[in-house]
Amino acid sequence: MTPDLDPSTVVVHAGRPERTPNAPVGNSPVFSSTYVAGGDRGYGRFGNDAWTALEETLGQLEGGRGLTFASGMAAAAAVVDLVPVGGQVIAPRHAYSGVLALLDQQADTGRLKLERVDIADTDAVIRALSGTDLLWIESPTNPAMEVADIPALAAAGRAAGATVVVDNTFATPLLQQPLKLGADIVMHSATKFIAGHSDVVLGAVVTADDELWSAIELRRRSLGAIPGPMEAWLALRGLRTLALRLERAQSNAAYLAERLRAHPRVSRVRYPGLPDDPGHDRAERQMSGFGAILAFELGGDADGAQQLCESTELWVHATSLGGVESMLERRHRWPIEAPTIPKDLIRLAVGIEHPDDLWADLERALTSGS
Ligand code: PLP
Repeated sequence: MTPDLDPSTVVVHAGRPERTPNAPVGNSPVFSSTYVAGGDRGYGRFGNDAWTALEETLGQLEGGRGLTFASGMAAAAAVVDLVPVGGQVIAPRHAYSGVLALLDQQADTGRLKLERVDIADTDAVIRALSGTDLLWIESPTNPAMEVADIPALAAAGRAAGATVVVDNTFATPLLQQPLKLGADIVMHSATKFIAGHSDVVLGAVVTADDELWSAIELRRRSLGAIPGPMEAWLALRGLRTLALRLERAQSNAAYLAERLRAHPRVSRVRYPGLPDDPGHDRAERQMSGFGAILAFELGGDADGAQQLCESTELWVHATSLGGVESMLERRHRWPIEAPTIPKDLIRLAVGIEHPDDLWADLERALTSGS
C-alpha cells in the first residue's frame, strides 16, 4: 500500500484480499485445523488467513510485522520468554497488573531478575539499565496515566544491549507508533481499542526485526497460545473503525477531564491531555492524541470511590477498556493492583456515547455520594 497514506486510511484498507474479479472485498475467518499438504501453512497452529489479515493491518500501522495471540497476556508472555534464564528485566512500578504479576511470578521462581522503576523518571530508568536483557515500557501506564519518554528510553535501552518493548494498548497504533520512536517490539491487548466492542480477548506483537519476529513466532507455535479465527476476524472488523471510535472517545475524555477537574469532590485528574498534567509535554511530543483513558481521585475516600462506581447508571461498572461503551472501576478492587496506586483512584475507559449523557451520569454519582 502507498506508504504516505494517513493511518486512518491504512486502518480501513490494509490486509484486504487482492482486488480480482469476484474476490470478496472483506476478510473472512477460515475454520480449518489443518491444510492440504504441499504448501507452507501445514497446520492450524502455524497460520490462519484471519490472523494474517489482522497481522498485516497491525504491521502496516505500527511499521513492522505482526503476530497475533490468544490474549494480550499470551503476547506479553511470549515476549518475556525471550529473556534468557536468569536474565534481567526492568519494568514499570505501575503498569497493567497482569503483566506485573507475570513478571513477579517469574522472578519468584528464579526464572528472571526483576527491577521495578518509575517509568516516567527517565534518569532512574537509565541508571538501572546496565546488564538488562528486557526493558518493559508501558505508556501511558495503566492506571496511573504516567507517560514514559519512549525515544530516550528506547535509545538508552538499546545502547545498553536490552530489547525494548512497549505495551501500546492505551495509545493504539493510531496515536503512537513505538517502533518509529526506537523500540524493538510493540505489544497490544487487542481485546481493548483494536477489537473495540468488548466481545473478544486477543493479543498482538509487532516488530520490524526479522530475528525477533521469528523467535516470537516460534514461541507462539510451541507454547500454542494462538487466536481463534473467529476472534481474529472480529478484531479486524472492529479495527476498521478505530479512527472514528477513537476520535469520539478521545474528545469525550478531554471534555470529562475538564468537568471532573472542576468538581469539588475530585482531588486529582490524571489525563495527559490536560496542559498541567506531568506527562502532557512528553505525550504531545510522541503521541498524536491523548487517548480515551483517564483516572481521578477523591481525596483519599476509597469507600466513596467504590460507592461511586456502583452507583452509575450509564457507565458500566466493569474492568477492561477500549469498548464503545464507557466503563469505570476502582482499580484497587483487584488485590494484585500495585500498592502505590491510590486506593481511591477510579479509572475511566471512555466510550463513544454523547458527552453530556456521560457527564450527567458521572455528576449524579459524584453528587449522590457527597
Ligand atoms: N496490557 C494492558 C495495558 C492491559 O490493559 C491489559 C488488559 O487489561 C493487558 C495488557 C492484557 O491483555 P488481555 O486482557 O487481552 O490478556
